[in-house]
Amino acid sequence: MKSKNHYDIIIIGGGASGLCTAIMAKTAKNSILIIEHNDRVGKKILSTGNGKCNLTNLGCKVITPELVFVENPEGIAPYYSANDNGFAEQVISEFDAEKAIAFFENLGMIPLNKNGYIYPRSEQAASVLDLLRFRCEELGVEILCGYQPVKIQKIHGGGFRIDDDFSCEKLIIAAGGQSASKTGSDGSGYELAKALGHKIIKPLPALCALKCSDPFFKELAGVRTDAKLHLFDLGEKDKVGNSKGQAKELVMIVYGNLQFNNYGISGIPVFQLSLIASRLLAESHEILVKIDLLPELSEDELAGAFAKKIQKYLEHGNGKDNFGKNKVPSSDIFLGILNKKLANVIEKESKKAHPNEKPEEYAFVYTHMIKRFKVHPTETVSFEEAQTTLGGVSTEEIDPKTMESKLVEGLYFTGEIVDVSGICGGYNLQWAWASAHAAATGLKG
Ligand SMILES: Cc1cc2nc3c(=O)[nH]c(=O)nc-3n(C[C@H](O)[C@H](O)[C@H](O)COP(=O)(O)OP(=O)(O)OC[C@H]3O[C@@H](n4cnc5c(N)ncnc54)[C@H](O)[C@@H]3O)c2cc1C
Repeated sequence: MKSKNHYDIIIIGGGASGLCTAIMAKTAKNSILIIEHNDRVGKKILSTGNGKCNLTNLGCKVITPELVFVENPEGIAPYYSANDNGFAEQVISEFDAEKAIAFFENLGMIPLNKNGYIYPRSEQAASVLDLLRFRCEELGVEILCGYQPVKIQKIHGGGFRIDDDFSCEKLIIAAGGQSASKTGSDGSGYELAKALGHKIIKPLPALCALKCSDPFFKELAGVRTDAKLHLFDLGEKDKVGNSKGQAKELVMIVYGNLQFNNYGISGIPVFQLSLIASRLLAESHEILVKIDLLPELSEDELAGAFAKKIQKYLEHGNGKDNFGKNKVPSSDIFLGILNKKLANVIEKESKKAHPNEKPEEYAFVYTHMIKRFKVHPTETVSFEEAQTTLGGVSTEEIDPKTMESKLVEGLYFTGEIVDVSGICGGYNLQWAWASAHAAATGLKG
């Protein structure tokens, strides 16, 4: 029997993909209810893009594992986590960045294009949320906040019952992942999906900082510098935590503004690396990040510059010890080249690694250290500090044309709850819009 609160479509989760699905699926004839457990919808949208909402990226395309090394504007990296055999690619090819921009223009937004990164011209994430909310209101989409569904049952003969309060013909779970749970996405959506028979790929924090085991981070805290980062997979560790010594494999290269803090590395390039590093660490792999701290100079150029400086230093009295012998050049050699804190660490680490090198050879020692500064990530920061979730509802069990479950007729998934994660730069919201579009196509069809 249908409850008195019966809808054609119920969407669990009033975030980016839930609101978008409602707008795209609403017709004059159907009834749609969004159920949101927070006291208001779209809290996470408000924190996106540092409050400005980077809502898509003109570079959006998908790279599968075999293509990880294809160049992109960020360096060399995948755009979406690649656990999915082109699943994300298929969904986004039907609703790409241009279509997302047109959708928002239709809601009344003027886009701001910053090198392919798209924001609203207002540069206010709140305005993106309001445009979505107001369109829902105009279309007659009902929104219920402060309700947490506990039990969802598939009704024999079609449809779903939510606790004893609601029923619907079609159900969309758009409850987000597990990152930044203060905004509402606390992982409870996975329990609902699991109860309906779906497999959940282990959720892990991603687009986040990496904690490292090296001793010098307290000294480096606060340093920011443009750098090129190479992520290496050193293979699985054995039971006592030692590397099994498999071959080193380069898995990702990114450029960007690197930040050091007192426990490890952060900043956009590290967020991008975390998309692969998080899974490797969770699978007990040892990883290494080699950082080129002066990527704009070749080894020869840098060694040449140091050689000149060291020559002057040695000619000058400061370069001699009390016995008139040449001294190892101090960190003053880095003045005007490297941040002072970084210079001190490079000097110390170089001397540790090459205690018996002749002073003249330090042009090469320092160059080597600067071009291949090694750090060893051991874990990611928590979900709370992560921008997205790796893992989620397995894409093997979802039809990419419609986002409908292959296991339960009438059940759909959109957004971050699905095992698709993009790099930083508008790629995750693009996934939210594109998966909403596919679901709406399925719901209308
Ligand atoms: C700080 C930060 C900055 C970011 N910046 C960007 C950016 O600039 N560009 C970009 O592309 N991406 C960005 N992201 C990622 C992006 O915000 C998410 O990928 C996107 O919001 C996911 O949309 P969604 O609809 O799947 O989930 P969400 O937006 O998280 O929405 C899920 C909704 O479901 C509700 N919910 C959860 N469980 C239940 C339940 N059991 N019952 C009822 N309701 C429930 C939640 O309260 C929430 O409102 C950022 C993320 C963070 C944390």
